[in-house]
Amino acid sequence: MTTRDSIPADLVRDLMIEAGYRCAVPTCRTVEPLDIEHIEDYAVVRKHEFSNMIVLCTNCHRRKGTGPRKIDRKALRIIKQNLSVVNQRYNELERRILEHFVENADDRYVLLPETPVLFSYLIKDGLIVGLSGSEVKEALHGETEGGRGFHITRGYALTDDGKRLVAKLRESAEAI
Ligand SMILES: [Zn+2]
Repeated sequence: MTTRDSIPADLVRDLMIEAGYRCAVPTCRTVEPLDIEHIEDYAVVRKHEFSNMIVLCTNCHRRKGTGPRKIDRKALRIIKQNLSVVNQRYNELERRILEHFVENADDRYVLLPETPVLFSYLIKDGLIVGLSGSEVKEALHGETEGGRGFHITRGYALTDDGKRLVAKLRESAEAI
């Protein structure tokens, strides 16, 4: 039986990554203690779905409800929608890479010029992996050197964890 307490570890991890390991409420962003909350009550939906779940600190969790001083479901949905914008874990380029994969379901990799920007967290979180030199060359086959106006030296592909997260982000984007 699925219970409220049996949220799969992978799902918790994806939600934590989405929220940047902080309370999702932009004016709060408390680091701990954090709860995983269902936007539409678990008692109603009876399932754990990424698109209906959000990370809140214990304080904000208590403020969930209806009424002018409460954080209602509509507010939580907007907060969730904006998470990728306020999420401080990933830099601008990292967020754009994730968005690219969310919007382009058929793309297997992104190709980039040499860049001083590090994808420290996307790689550390195991969401993307760098292509080898020969894989980049193969991905570029048929394109003339400099055809894009810049020299491509790097390529990144989603890992299985990355694919799972991107699929959930896409599902979330479509649910709003
Ligand atoms: Zn909070």
